[in-house]
Amino acid sequence: MPELPEVETVARDLRRRLLPEGGGPGPVIVGARVSWTKTVRDGDSDSFAVAVAGRRIEAVGRRGKQVVVDLSDGAFLTIHLKMTGQLFVVPASLPVDPYERLALALDDGREIRFRDVRKFGRIGLYLADDDPFDGIGPEPLDDRFTLKAFRSRIRGRRARLKPLLVDQAFLAGVGNIYADEALWRAKLHPLRSARSLRPSDERALYRHIREILAEAVERRGSSIDDYTAPDGDGAMQERLDVYQRTGEACRRCGRPIRRIVIGIRATHFCSWCQRLPRSDQPAAAALLRTMTPTRGARVATRKATRWVELDADGALGRTSDEAARARARTARTRAAAAARRAAARAGSSA
Ligand SMILES: [Zn+2]
Repeated sequence: MPELPEVETVARDLRRRLLPEGGGPGPVIVGARVSWTKTVRDGDSDSFAVAVAGRRIEAVGRRGKQVVVDLSDGAFLTIHLKMTGQLFVVPASLPVDPYERLALALDDGREIRFRDVRKFGRIGLYLADDDPFDGIGPEPLDDRFTLKAFRSRIRGRRARLKPLLVDQAFLAGVGNIYADEALWRAKLHPLRSARSLRPSDERALYRHIREILAEAVERRGSSIDDYTAPDGDGAMQERLDVYQRTGEACRRCGRPIRRIVIGIRATHFCSWCQRLPRSDQPAAAALLRTMTPTRGARVATRKATRWVELDADGALGRTSDEAARARARTARTRAAAAARRAAARAGSSA
């Protein structure tokens, strides 16, 4: 699902296509064609078409994961792309796509078309006094979102980091891709509890959330699944370090990237670089037992030298293979050192 960088890219492309570069008024919406009623947020496509007609487009922006189109008289549209929503601005004469769910006709002969294969996308029309964003957290790229603001939000939270980061009430716009990427960059395990973070961890997480999002905006987002913007695809997918790289080598340590399923979300991380503190291990292991589809694999904790290790996917530490290889390596190193010491003793006594 498109996250902050993808939605920001869509909003910027729309703005460029709809509004004059130097400022000034945009086109007027002259009508709406609704082919899938549920695309209209309140399900009333007739009222929607009547209420939207005659309104001028004044600005295009974004809040969280939604495109926001400001119209005359304080009204505004919210467009939630969800899984497969796409927006295009095209001449009205262009043949209509079978997956088009809603179109807005403009007075300049063009149409804004909303294409949505899976039909989860929603477009809402609101009036000046409405606040559909009540309860949505701060914008992570906003200047007002300082380290201090982040600290005051995260301190005292009991949640695990991954579910917390994708919670829109905690932070706006972060989803599966950028939560996984920010946690990898900050070297924090996705099942770590927010309250276990030290001040340096908080700083790293804050910095990497903002960095990955800013970088992704610059690269027009990650074109994964159906995401594309009015002016074309993004390129951030080439820069992702963990998302959908299960089994591939971690770019920091070379060990395989792990995947666990928390709720309905796949979570990608490196269990070597993103170490779980001992205090968080029992709770994380219990969560994994309930959340990971077992596929016949036994998930059991076992004491290891430096951390509790899980069988099966090695989600909290190394797999048993890796542990065996590490033990063999340690044994070989020790044997070699012992041989060197013996040789040195033999040499000095000769
Ligand atoms: Zn790693």
